[in-house]
Amino acid sequence: MMYSRGGGSSRPEMVDRRRIINDALDKQLEKSSPSTSRAKDKDRDRISVPSTSTGKSQPDHRDSRASSLSKNKASDDEAESDSEFSDVSGSDADDTSWISWFCNLRGNEFFCEVDDEYIQDDFNLCGLSAQVPYYDYALDLILDVESSHGDMFTEEQNELVESAAEMLYGLIHVRYILTSKGMATMLEKYKKYEFGRCPRVYCCAQPCLPVGQSDIPRSSTVKIYCPKCEDIYYPRSKYQGNLDGAYFGTTFPHLFLMTYGHLKPQKTVQTYAPRVFGFKIHKP
Ligand SMILES: [Zn+2]
Repeated sequence: MMYSRGGGSSRPEMVDRRRIINDALDKQLEKSSPSTSRAKDKDRDRISVPSTSTGKSQPDHRDSRASSLSKNKASDDEAESDSEFSDVSGSDADDTSWISWFCNLRGNEFFCEVDDEYIQDDFNLCGLSAQVPYYDYALDLILDVESSHGDMFTEEQNELVESAAEMLYGLIHVRYILTSKGMATMLEKYKKYEFGRCPRVYCCAQPCLPVGQSDIPRSSTVKIYCPKCEDIYYPRSKYQGNLDGAYFGTTFPHLFLMTYGHLKPQKTVQTYAPRVFGFKIHKP
């Protein structure tokens, strides 16, 4: 099955959700930090999803967790071949923490679940309050702290908090995966090939690691790094292709392979040689 990338072929509810998040964050970031240099590179359009329909009536997704998850599941069965990650049971939405719910969303499979303890330590969140709008509310949401302000918020404000929570989680995540505990969690995912494999034939299905091309949020999408050919590729799933690379960072796979040196594979020596009628092509 071929995956079209960056196009408008996502399912409507995903498109709406991503678009709302992106619009909301753009609006809020413009308002709150005009001086922030947000790199706009050619990858930028991969993060924002084309606005094909309006999402005005998007319900608060905490209420619609169960329904949207089961909706995803239903459409998996009919069309998608990469449904291996979406075995979320939508029945017990109340027992699911925000973090595990979020990490199980389609497209979020690269994320590991950050320890509550890590998030509760203010030291680990140093500097993030200046980067994320609605910081306190977003943090409460991530930690499933019942907020008395929830009722006061308009639908639009709730959406802003939701999108802020997503960004805050990503920015916590990129720090967490560099800690020994976070790295061990990512190791478990790596062992299960959850970050995909290198598409290069001579890498012989080498498992990959997620990497960002920039540490600045919203500048490029996540890529996968192959330790064998030491190159980066687009993730296989178009849903993962919408993830922000800054939530994984430029350092992670390299520090990971330094930490777990035994996992670093031999560099591949085999290369592909183009031939015409069996003869290697002469290079001038
Ligand atoms: Zn490779």
